[in-house]
Amino acid sequence: MNSVINEYKFIELPTLLCLGADMLNSVPEVIKRLSLGKKVLLLTDEFLRTRIAKDVENILIDGNIEVFTNTIQDSTMDEVNKQIEFHKEIKPDFVIGLGGGRPIDIAKSVSFQVNQRFISVPTIASHDGVASSRASIMGSKKRHSIQALPPIAVVADTVILDKSPYRFTASGCGDLIAKRTAIADWMLSHRLKNELISEYSIALSDMTAQLITKNADIIRSQVEGYSRIVVKALISSSLAMCVAGSSRPGSGSEHMFSHALDSFAETPALHGEQCALGTILMGYLHDLDWVEIKNIMINLGLPVTSRNLGLKDEEVIKALEIAHTIRPERFTVLGKEGLTRDAAIKAATITGVIN
Ligand SMILES: [Zn+2]
Repeated sequence: MNSVINEYKFIELPTLLCLGADMLNSVPEVIKRLSLGKKVLLLTDEFLRTRIAKDVENILIDGNIEVFTNTIQDSTMDEVNKQIEFHKEIKPDFVIGLGGGRPIDIAKSVSFQVNQRFISVPTIASHDGVASSRASIMGSKKRHSIQALPPIAVVADTVILDKSPYRFTASGCGDLIAKRTAIADWMLSHRLKNELISEYSIALSDMTAQLITKNADIIRSQVEGYSRIVVKALISSSLAMCVAGSSRPGSGSEHMFSHALDSFAETPALHGEQCALGTILMGYLHDLDWVEIKNIMINLGLPVTSRNLGLKDEEVIKALEIAHTIRPERFTVLGKEGLTRDAAIKAATITGVIN
């Protein structure tokens, strides 16, 4: 029997979660508390290199930490290998990933491969990879979710996150609204395929979607410190995935829809924006209250139609038709065969995603 009670596994979680105004200044203290060492490889992107990365360098130097900064170009396996080579040259004690999704994904992969720990310093709250153990790395054709370790610490500075463009934060909210259908998919697979579930992980993941729903007005008003609600929920979602040991509590059919769009759409939108749009569609297929989901998205200022997302109607229909092929081993409401073209058009039309 597929029993949770008899199951035994390791759950890897971050050790320190630091969240608040001017948290960036606490990085040396975090390093000291965790005895991470005196020499760090700081991975960031070109845009941040002369901005926040400079501030972090100065804070580290003031804290008597030797810092080597390198910029990443993309989030491919080639980039991971390039940074591993650089890592071998400078021989740091640990790694910091500073930025949006890509620098954190690369820092996560590099530190895992060289058997070191890393600190995640998100500068935007756009997705729930900030504290998770999965790295999203681009393969030759599509994105892969690669197993790594969660960060040993997350340092989320709400002054920086508050100042980041609202579109990114709204996208982070979209990635959390997506938990509604991700959990529904997992439960469905549990009932139909007897897939093992983790009630703790589901409760945690569900809470993050509820937090966003409950605080949609505060988030939209962008009142000082608003980003704290979003980043806290994103971290909790990462923790739900750490508990499950996979992305299952946070990624279902709506993520497959988004990954499908990424694979062929002319101008894909942000990850969380696409996942949220997918949540309306998959919510309809699950017979959930998709109108409520749509209204929460409108409250948050998230696009609810293909046009407002910069996508063509035909791209949405194609993504619905092929979404089930993205991750065939993960059972969802799309089943093994996916949607027929007629059903895809109907789902997108009834929900008003296309018109
Ligand atoms: Zn996501």
